[in-house]
Amino acid sequence: MIPLPIPSGRPLVVFTDLDGTLIDHHTYDPRESLAAVRILDQRGAALVFCSSKTFAEQIFLQQQIGICQPFIFENGSAAAVPGGFFAETAYQATQREAAYDIVRFAHAGAAELRAVLAGFKGLKGFADVSDAELAAATGLSGAALQRARERRFTETLLSPLDETTAGSLTRMLRPAGFTLSRGGRFYTVQSARVNKGKAVCWMMDIFRRTSPQIPFFAAVGDSPNDARMLETVDLPFLVQGPDRTWAKMDIPHLIKIDAVGPAGFSAAVQMLSNA
Ligand SMILES: [Mg+2]
Repeated sequence: MIPLPIPSGRPLVVFTDLDGTLIDHHTYDPRESLAAVRILDQRGAALVFCSSKTFAEQIFLQQQIGICQPFIFENGSAAAVPGGFFAETAYQATQREAAYDIVRFAHAGAAELRAVLAGFKGLKGFADVSDAELAAATGLSGAALQRARERRFTETLLSPLDETTAGSLTRMLRPAGFTLSRGGRFYTVQSARVNKGKAVCWMMDIFRRTSPQIPFFAAVGDSPNDARMLETVDLPFLVQGPDRTWAKMDIPHLIKIDAVGPAGFSAAVQMLSNA
C-alpha cells in the first residue's frame, strides 16, 4: 500500500471517470469538483479524463473547468493529447484535430458498428431516436445533446437490458469484434479490443517514458466499466453511486470513498494531496 498523501515533489497523474464521478450523475454539473481540480492544477498533477463521453463533450468540459490535458474518450476507443503536451516522438497520432493528436484503439468506427446493430430489432441507441427522446432519456438539451451524439466508435443504448438479454447481445456482437459495457446509466456497445484499462495503460507508459521521475498513478471511478481502469493504477478510488452504495468490484487496495460522485472525487484528491 502506498502511503498517502503523495509528497508534493513527486509527479502525480489522476485518471478520472466523468459521469457520476467528476460531474454529478443527474445534472452533469462539475461545480462540486472545481476546488479539487484547482488543487491538482496547483501541485502540477495531470488530470486525465477517461469516460464513455465523446471527444466533443470532453473538450467542452475541459474548457468549462479550465484545463487542457490528455484524455481518453468513448470508453477507451481513442485518446486525445494536446499538441506539445508530450514529446512528439512519444507516440504516433492517427490524426490531428482542434490542436489535439488523436490515437485510435478501436478496430472499427461508428458506421460499421451501427450496421451491425441494425441487425438487432428493437434495440434503440442514441443514433436511432429523436432529439426529444434523447433529451428525455439523458436530461441533455441543445448543444450538449449534439455533442453527446458525436459518437465516432461506440453506440450508447437507451433500451433497458436485463442480464440475460445483455449476455445474449454480447454473444451476438462477438463475431463482429464488438462487446457490451455497462456504465452508470446506460449500456454502451464498443470495440471488444478496447476498454478504459488498456487506454490508461497506454497513457501511463507515455507518462513513465516522458517524466523525469516515475509518477504515481491514481484513478477515480464509480461504475463497473471503471474496474479495468481502477485495477491498472497504483491508487484506485471508488466513489459511491447516487444511491450511496459502491459498485461491486474486487480490486486489491481499492479505496472506497464514503461520498457520492463529485464529493467522492474531491475526497480522493484530498487524500492524495492533503491540501
Ligand atoms: Mg461513471
